[in-house]
Amino acid sequence: MVVLSGDRGKFLVDAGISVSEGKVRAALNEIGPTQVTYLINTHWHWDHTDGNGWLHDSGATIVAHQNTLKHLSQATQVDDWNWTMPPVPTGARPTILVNDSTTFIFAGDTIHVNHYGPGHTDGDLSIYFEKADVLALGDTFWNGYYPFIDNQDGGNINDAIKWADKAIECATDKTIVVPGHGPEGTRSQLIEFRNMLATVRDDVAVLKRQGKLLDEVIAAKPSATFDEKWGRFVIDPAHFIRLVYAGL
Ligand SMILES: [Zn+2]
Repeated sequence: MVVLSGDRGKFLVDAGISVSEGKVRAALNEIGPTQVTYLINTHWHWDHTDGNGWLHDSGATIVAHQNTLKHLSQATQVDDWNWTMPPVPTGARPTILVNDSTTFIFAGDTIHVNHYGPGHTDGDLSIYFEKADVLALGDTFWNGYYPFIDNQDGGNINDAIKWADKAIECATDKTIVVPGHGPEGTRSQLIEFRNMLATVRDDVAVLKRQGKLLDEVIAAKPSATFDEKWGRFVIDPAHFIRLVYAGL
């Protein structure tokens, strides 16, 4: 989550999960006394939007890509989680929709919101705070971990790499790059992430072109050189290979 705090309100990136409401409220109050004016969802996944309801009840207008609204408005099955996400209540749905790009002038900063097509999902947004030089990438960037890729909802490995390329273009060595998971990062960590994605993609693609089945590709351990560093979080090496393979 990222917050820009001004005299008349706050601009918040992602809502977190709703059980964190108390902690998020306390953290927001520590930053300043104003309410959240705008909440922007980087994408539809539960861990980024579940807090939409209480934030909207506290006065926030919710901004998201139109496909994020689509997913939040209907039951969505995610096979990888073996779970059907129900539609969220009307108040928790975005009301300002972004197609490609938009700009907010807020608390003395210019906030550039961009959609570069599918990536992690079909409704990802990147949010760049120009004056603060902070780039929030949602789950198109996992800093130090293999990412989840929502193949069922428009995401895929090739477009995930394209998103990383766009993000690298947007950042300088001074930019604070905020991932969806993992610690606050830098442009060089973003480049490392991009190169990991591309190398694993290339290696899996070679095996798939040889006609190898998913289980055979996993058994060949094409990501072995990255597994110790990147494979220690929710997406383990075999899961990541499944996600890459499904997108090729
Ligand atoms: Zn996600």
